[in-house]
Amino acid sequence: MNTSDSEHIAGMLLASGLTASPTPEESDLIIVNTCAVREKSEEKLYSLLGRLESLKEKKGTIIGVVGCVAQLHRSKLWDKKPSLDFIIGPDNYGKISQIIPSQTRKKVLFTEWSPEWRDQPVQQIKRDSKVSAYITIMEGCNNFCSYCVVPFTRGREKYRPIPSILEEAEELASKGYKEIQLLGQNVNSYIDPETGDNFAALLENINKIASIEWIRFITSHPKNFIDEIAYAMKKANKVCHQLHLPIQSGSTSVLQRMNRGYSREEYLEKIDLLRNLMPDIHLSTDIIVGFPGETQVEFQETLGLLANVRYTNIFSFRYSPRPQTAAAKKEDNIAFEEKKNRLIQVQALQRKIQLEKNKSLIGQTQKILCTGISKKDPHVYTGRNAGYQVVNFNSPNDVFDQFIWVKILSCGPYSLFGEKAEFPSFSR
Ligand code: SF4
Repeated sequence: MNTSDSEHIAGMLLASGLTASPTPEESDLIIVNTCAVREKSEEKLYSLLGRLESLKEKKGTIIGVVGCVAQLHRSKLWDKKPSLDFIIGPDNYGKISQIIPSQTRKKVLFTEWSPEWRDQPVQQIKRDSKVSAYITIMEGCNNFCSYCVVPFTRGREKYRPIPSILEEAEELASKGYKEIQLLGQNVNSYIDPETGDNFAALLENINKIASIEWIRFITSHPKNFIDEIAYAMKKANKVCHQLHLPIQSGSTSVLQRMNRGYSREEYLEKIDLLRNLMPDIHLSTDIIVGFPGETQVEFQETLGLLANVRYTNIFSFRYSPRPQTAAAKKEDNIAFEEKKNRLIQVQALQRKIQLEKNKSLIGQTQKILCTGISKKDPHVYTGRNAGYQVVNFNSPNDVFDQFIWVKILSCGPYSLFGEKAEFPSFSR
């Protein structure tokens, strides 16, 4: 969501007549887009702002904070960082051109929420990729998971009308984009505000757009992932067989304390349905270790679930209390060292699973969307397969922003490696 928001903000600033500068030192205006989901990302913000202060002193650079930390702390951010020029929450990016340098140096705070969906001018978005694009379909969250700060920073759910989403998707298709990623905090609860059509209907509509070849979506809440969406995924031939379905804990008692609204068994039933419908589906998830009161038995249930589901990928974190949440009122009673130890166990198990799964792909020829050059080797291309795995590969010719076929030759736990291969025609 933040990457997409940054693309919107950059587009608005360029449309206001500003130009991008290559380094912070050369900039007249610096905007830091922030995430408040974990304590660690917030700490990183304060150390970054500390480093930027010298630029302000030297050349009067205008510095502002936007995003979830801005919304969470609002004017209190000025208690910590009095030199900030503006603080803008996620529902107010549309006003960002009001802080361009030619305007007043008066401090600005925009953090009020609008209950209605506000369309942004999509033509202005400064997208990083020329082939894969994000489309926001909803904002906010109504779930109040007990550990999560998002409902306090992004507000309640509001949904973008399907015609507006389709208009953006069709414009992207006309510009040559091949992949669309639908975004929202909880896309499965999407409802068209005018017709009441649900997320399954939206997938069906997007699937009809010629020249878009891959459709993905994130994030799904298991509670709202109804069977109809799994059937829609199977039916819509452009929807990748890949799903991020965050479980957070493998223990039903922890899930209850997290206010997640499903049990371990209900979650596993959804996994069974997905794998029955799409045996080639790639699944990923989020795991939090050390939630208040998590016993050894409960933690072992998480390890057992990982061994059972065998995800393609996971994102795992130590619990940290976030302001205003219900869990923050409970004692954070799992010691830091114990949380660290549990995280190491989770990651070691998952690394082993990923390596085993990736090895089984060696020899396959896969369809890859090339998105750039490998960070580690400028002579190697990089891209993603339908399962959203990173695939680095050699190619004798330029394949930027193209679908190509790659034969997998080797792997590590976190990526695959191969070489461009010939294939008679494209299929999934
Ligand atoms: S569903 Fe839960 S974890 Fe996800 S954004 Fe909403 S409150 Fe946070």
